[in-house]
Amino acid sequence: MNPDIFHYIVIISISGVLSILLAIYAFVKRKVFSNSNVFILISCFSAIYIFGHAFELAGNNLAEIKIWLKFQYFGLPFIAPTCLILILQYTGLHRFLKRKIITSLYIIPIITCLMSLTNDFHHLFYQSVYLRPNEKTPLVDMIVGPLYIVHGSYTFGCLLFGTCILIWYWKRVKAVYWKQVMTLILGQIIPMAASFLYLIGVSPYGMDPVPIVMCFTSALYLWAIISTKLFMIAPIARDRIFESMRDGVLIVDISNRLVDYNEAAEKMIPTLLSSSIGKNIYDIWKMEEDISEEQQKFEWMNRKNNKYYYIHVTEVFNNKKIAVGKTIVLSDVTEQKVLEAQLKQLAYTDGLTKIYNRTYFMKRSQEQLEQAIQLNKSLSLFLFDIDFFKKINDHYGHHAGDAAICHVVELCKKSLQPEYIFGRYGGEEFVVCLPDTNILEAGKIAEKIRAEIAKTPLHLNEKFITITASFGVTEIRENSNTLHILLEQADKALYISKENGRNSVHLAINDSFIIPVE
Ligand code: GH3
Ligand code: MG
Ligand code: MG
Repeated sequence: MNPDIFHYIVIISISGVLSILLAIYAFVKRKVFSNSNVFILISCFSAIYIFGHAFELAGNNLAEIKIWLKFQYFGLPFIAPTCLILILQYTGLHRFLKRKIITSLYIIPIITCLMSLTNDFHHLFYQSVYLRPNEKTPLVDMIVGPLYIVHGSYTFGCLLFGTCILIWYWKRVKAVYWKQVMTLILGQIIPMAASFLYLIGVSPYGMDPVPIVMCFTSALYLWAIISTKLFMIAPIARDRIFESMRDGVLIVDISNRLVDYNEAAEKMIPTLLSSSIGKNIYDIWKMEEDISEEQQKFEWMNRKNNKYYYIHVTEVFNNKKIAVGKTIVLSDVTEQKVLEAQLKQLAYTDGLTKIYNRTYFMKRSQEQLEQAIQLNKSLSLFLFDIDFFKKINDHYGHHAGDAAICHVVELCKKSLQPEYIFGRYGGEEFVVCLPDTNILEAGKIAEKIRAEIAKTPLHLNEKFITITASFGVTEIRENSNTLHILLEQADKALYISKENGRNSVHLAINDSFIIPVE
């Protein structure tokens, strides 16, 4: 035998043994090996092809060589589509691997295998297979047929498509995975390049270099599996969970430099870019709180999209319990916040008029009252009640009554300053607390509101309904300085307004002295 060919067979056999070892390794480690079945299949198909090729080269006559040639096709056509499946799984595109797609991926390889077996009957795969003339060692050459071209193009197509997917994936994946992705890309490109050299006829002795380079790619895979944990389930699973989390997660090192972040965090923090890795977190993300403490919780609002986040900072420790960095978890609490605001609104305000309800009015006024007493400042309060309101309800209906209440509230608001506290005291009765205002000033404001209501009829369904209201005003004095007493006095003055023909304002100057406003 030609010694070159002998060496060639030896290298090919090593390549075949490596493939078998890879299959065994993947089988033994199948629990921690993601897609182990697919990887075992690839290794087995490769081994069939490689050993078939080795026996072909070692064959003594044409008949023997032809048998081994056919044997190779139980492996060769299936390698590229199985690699494609592995790549789809590795890059997280497994959702495309429906049963139908997998089946259709193997249609051409099965036809290829059958056609190679039955070639003697149709010569569509190889037009002819013949022994090379003038060679000491029996070697075959063949003239390819149309089905061989289909098989070759399909194999190239699968490898090329797989490479494209890997390049696309490369751009999306973090730098720690680049070694792995590169290994897979080389695993596609090297056999492609080798078979290209073979096809254009520049390989030594016109030998197929693919089985030899497969020795190299198998070794590359083995190295990547051991050194970069390629195909190991845990890192892949961890990565998938990390990326698919609804919460945003950032990881910073001990000096607050950004180490990693997930997709959700990228959406939550607009200034977070892939170029941010390695930069100080405060330069990337303008947050006011400092995260130096061991445990930290705070809220943050993204003003660009009006979203609220609850932020939880936790220290990360290594095996030796030494702090190595922090995780910052952002949970979107916008919905909760909106709900909370709505609940607050419901608790504080009156449903019909949207001004304060009685309870909240009392709370706010009590605070103002205490402050006024402490600082020795004046504070006034007035009550007012719509006159003959029952008649509005009776004449025009309850709906008109509601409209009248809202109408009066709107008119009243016009004359009130923001520091005044305005609330609905009861059905058609309202109350205003005026900090820093004495009774005469408060009386003027009440009178202004009374006049405004009286001269602005409610326009409803083509009708004008004239509304009036009666007012009672009081202020804090030495012995009348509780909210309860103030309300009682204002109510007395209001009663006098009603007694005196309604549509008027009365001031409770002291406990028993009530006068009409000037
Ligand atoms: P006065 O001048 O003495 O105040 O007479 P009035 O009819 O205004 O007083 P009265 O207290 O007898 O009647 C108040 C009515 O207001 C009774 C109640 O049915 C009605 N009312 C209370 N709350 C509402 C409300 O939210 N909407 C409507 N439409 N009516 C209400
Ligand atoms: Mg009334
Ligand atoms: Mg009333």
